[in-house]
Amino acid sequence: MSKNPVIQQVLESYKPIWALNHAGGLLEWDLETYMPVDAAKSRGFAEAQIALMRQQKVLGLRETVSKAEKLDGLSDYEKGVVRNIKRELKYFTKIPPGLVEELKRTATEATVVWREARKKSDFALFEPYLEKIVQLKKEEADKLGYEGHPYNALMDLFEEDLTTQDVDRVFSPLVSNLKRILGKIVSSRSFPSSHKLEDVAYDEEAMRNVNNEVLRVLGMPDKTFRMDVSTHPFTAGMSLDDVRITTRYEGKSFRETIFSVIHECGHALYDLQVDHSLEYTPLAGGPSLGIHESQSRFWENFVGRSREFTNLLYPILKKNLTFISQYSEEDIYKYFNLVGPSLIRVAADEVTYNFHIIVRYEVEKMLIGGEATVSEIPAIWDDLMEEYVGVRPKNLAEGVLQDVHWSGGLIGYFPTYSLGNVIAGMITSRMKRDLNVQDIIKRGDMNPIKAWLRENIHKWGSIYSPKDLQKKVLGDVYNPEYLVKYLEEKYLA
Ligand SMILES: [Zn+2]
Repeated sequence: MSKNPVIQQVLESYKPIWALNHAGGLLEWDLETYMPVDAAKSRGFAEAQIALMRQQKVLGLRETVSKAEKLDGLSDYEKGVVRNIKRELKYFTKIPPGLVEELKRTATEATVVWREARKKSDFALFEPYLEKIVQLKKEEADKLGYEGHPYNALMDLFEEDLTTQDVDRVFSPLVSNLKRILGKIVSSRSFPSSHKLEDVAYDEEAMRNVNNEVLRVLGMPDKTFRMDVSTHPFTAGMSLDDVRITTRYEGKSFRETIFSVIHECGHALYDLQVDHSLEYTPLAGGPSLGIHESQSRFWENFVGRSREFTNLLYPILKKNLTFISQYSEEDIYKYFNLVGPSLIRVAADEVTYNFHIIVRYEVEKMLIGGEATVSEIPAIWDDLMEEYVGVRPKNLAEGVLQDVHWSGGLIGYFPTYSLGNVIAGMITSRMKRDLNVQDIIKRGDMNPIKAWLRENIHKWGSIYSPKDLQKKVLGDVYNPEYLVKYLEEKYLA
């Protein structure tokens, strides 16, 4: 992809860094899936050592990259290589090895403690770890430097150049529109807020069969992924031919596991459809979490929760879950699209989901800005949930302890979920100019949609920054109008 000798030299030196990412990614996947609990300490040690090796390798690229930067007439691909490595260089130049090591080690140990705390609904167990993580993340933000709010430095790690101003610009019209839409749905009772199926227990083996059928309907390529079980569903892209997804089986309300599978498949398809010439380079993967979430949310909501997809799933559900025969297809569609205040983010409907994100965004800004202490967070969380979502958690497991992110040190991550929803709205609108999306879903062959996403989004990897990719492909940046329009058409028509 580049004949320039300096760029070739950069790419050659990047190969061991790619391999360290690969090894570290596999260790993290194992931590979430199969690792015995008592291994947390040694795993944290190993991951921290790998992070330090990465730091050294990245810093070793400084001279070559500064040479590359001065070259004239670089292609988009070559500019992408330089931009991505410069971001890593900035990080590792500013963050001392001691902090790199401590962040990684603490996050690994905290993940295991959080699981226990969530199970027991016991914040005190997790509190000292969260305190440590917040302190380390504040330190990280200070070292990285920022304009405006220190939280900007942390968001930038997940979404290049994202600022609280950007997020506020998205949230403020989004919140007022979502409140209006929610009000209309509630008063018209067109979509209920609860359903009997939420309490119906399922057989796990039968549910696994359903999920395998869902993978088939989505056309997941057999030999390039696997699906396992974890406390919190996630996707880990190991390479362009190896993606791991997970789900969880909670024993009742069968839609939760199905939609987590569809969501993670959206991430996985992205990782698998990046142009293979980008393999082993810093461009092999999406440019940001917002863009990544746009893919998972597109499949989960715009495809998965559609009437056409419900129609595809209905016979599969009927075949595997005996209790389905008591419910009509329309019933199942409504159960997939319940709208109303709920406690758990990952199970929230399309309309109220973004309120859950605002709660986390506000809490994180307070923590990093020093406006609240960790011990105050459970109470603040409950108040904000009541204010935005309209419901107050009865215990901490369904409140402040529900998400894995903070234990993994992922502060600044949450806003990218809402950006993902917003970008998915933009993508759907753009895609509909080229494809009859509903018709394609109805026929049950997702290939035209996958091909469109590959051509327009996936194949570029992270050649372009998230803002540039949106401008190039969608002609707009983080514009919530399209999402609002989609929700109005679906829920208010
Ligand atoms: Zn996701």
